[in-house]
Amino acid sequence: MEANNIESLHLTINGKRLWNQLMDLGKIGEEDNGGVTRTSLDQKDIEARKWFLNLLEQADLSPYMDAAGNIFGQIIGKNPELPAVLIGSHLDTVNSGGCFDGAMGVLMGVEVLCTLKEKGIQPERTIKVVSLTDEEGARFDYAFVGSTALVGTEGADKLKENLAAATDKEGISYLEVMRQASLEGEYFNQINPDRLELAQVREKDVKAYIEVHIEQGKVLENEDLAVGIVTGISGGEWAEVTITGEAGHAGTTWMNERKDALTAAAECILEIEKIAQDSSGSVATVGKLEVKPGSSNVIPGRVDFTLDVRDIDNERRENTIAKIYDSIRAIAADRGLRCEIRPVQSLASVMSSPSVMKAVKDSLQEIPYPVYELPSGAAHDAMVLGELTDIGMIFIRSKSGISHHPDEWSSFEDVALGCEVLYRTTLKLL
Ligand SMILES: [Zn+2]
Repeated sequence: MEANNIESLHLTINGKRLWNQLMDLGKIGEEDNGGVTRTSLDQKDIEARKWFLNLLEQADLSPYMDAAGNIFGQIIGKNPELPAVLIGSHLDTVNSGGCFDGAMGVLMGVEVLCTLKEKGIQPERTIKVVSLTDEEGARFDYAFVGSTALVGTEGADKLKENLAAATDKEGISYLEVMRQASLEGEYFNQINPDRLELAQVREKDVKAYIEVHIEQGKVLENEDLAVGIVTGISGGEWAEVTITGEAGHAGTTWMNERKDALTAAAECILEIEKIAQDSSGSVATVGKLEVKPGSSNVIPGRVDFTLDVRDIDNERRENTIAKIYDSIRAIAADRGLRCEIRPVQSLASVMSSPSVMKAVKDSLQEIPYPVYELPSGAAHDAMVLGELTDIGMIFIRSKSGISHHPDEWSSFEDVALGCEVLYRTTLKLL
């Protein structure tokens, strides 16, 4: 059945309400080109957080914020001792991103809770919607802050250390920005980067985490489907590489005397591409390159570049990374240059829990809508939460597969249908 026959599907959720909220939220941080910029705890992110807190208050969903700035709304269950069901995503964006990535998943969570309330359903277990702090990592090049704090992945002290080391382009540390945000008044005063352990939840308190997200690829569009079940999320490793040679005059230094850091980096980047191509599964990207001193008549003396390697198969990814690191070292050594590789973050692949996948599948069949499964190449908070609890994700078709871009788009019909699937899935998990 086509999602554009939405009228015939008799949805339980209120698709129009959800859509209007999504469009309203998209105005916060909107730019002339239609893109949306709300990077972590910047002025627009704070404005969006206040908007969201107000929405939760209006919906009577008892909002609260934790030490890492994660924002929760909730319906307390009849038996609050039972592990809770968590629906979440993120409100932050990349620079000039779209209004669906993250925000859609959070607002669908709100819509599910509102629908439960309107139907007078008080579930056995508590259900929460959560907006997780900084999924994108666009401002500080450090991502998954809220989910990492929630799970306690690396311990509160280590996380604080990393937040102190991460700076934005103005040179302000993440830690300092969090401290400033804690002065924003009610709810925000709970933010406390010195006590991040307060944000940690225990395994026995959560039954499952479910996240709806735009696909950010063309698989569903090619299949002519609005909704898909995510089987697992590719793990990733992120690193920074510095190649140091010698700066010199472009006119007076003979070719055989040069220690050009940029030509070495160029050779590394081509080799990285080749290693990933030969791996039959890994993808590797150099997305950021800085050339110093950066002058047209000076041989580059230093190049810094980023590395992003992903693969759903953990062993194959580790293999690819090891080969890439070896080749960078070999290329630098061959050319008589120095290199430094600094791993920044590493996340293992996470498979969706069979019980959550089954709940999504049963929901699709109930509607009825075709069941289709696909993996996620992009990282999501769900993979961090996967270390704590059962996870599941639902993907919504992205127009032309575009995301992190002003043209990012999912249709009203697809969003409404996706939220209906989430609602039915949640009922099964409750
Ligand atoms: Zn996202």
